[in-house]
Amino acid sequence: MTKRSIIQIDEQLCNGCGLCISPCAEGALELVDGKAKVVKEELCDGAGFCLGVCPVGALTLDIRDADPFSEQAAEPIKAQKEQHYIAQMCSFCRILEDDAYLLPIKHKGKALWACTHCLPRLIHQ
Ligand code: SF4
Repeated sequence: MTKRSIIQIDEQLCNGCGLCISPCAEGALELVDGKAKVVKEELCDGAGFCLGVCPVGALTLDIRDADPFSEQAAEPIKAQKEQHYIAQMCSFCRILEDDAYLLPIKHKGKALWACTHCLPRLIHQ
């Protein structure tokens, strides 16, 4: 165990939509009995890419004692997920993440992706 940043899931808020599963490249999150769960602490690197997509704010980063992240354990899962990965697209101009950098954003309770071309326009709206 080591004190580190790791995802915390509020089960009361989680509605089981599953939107957080795909952004986690390491496969740390799965739906279990209709709720998101960190299936193995060693797979969560605490990067927080899942945070922005949760429509109900059920995900936060916590600093607590947890198993250390294991790149070795995550690598085969990352390789497997990459084979079936569906590229995300900007919610505004529809450009794919293969062709632009995408950032998770939220607006009026919706989880969206914004590319770096559209983001400045949104900032100045
Ligand atoms: S995105 Fe949020 S509400 Fe949906 S499954 Fe993940 S934690 Fe639950």
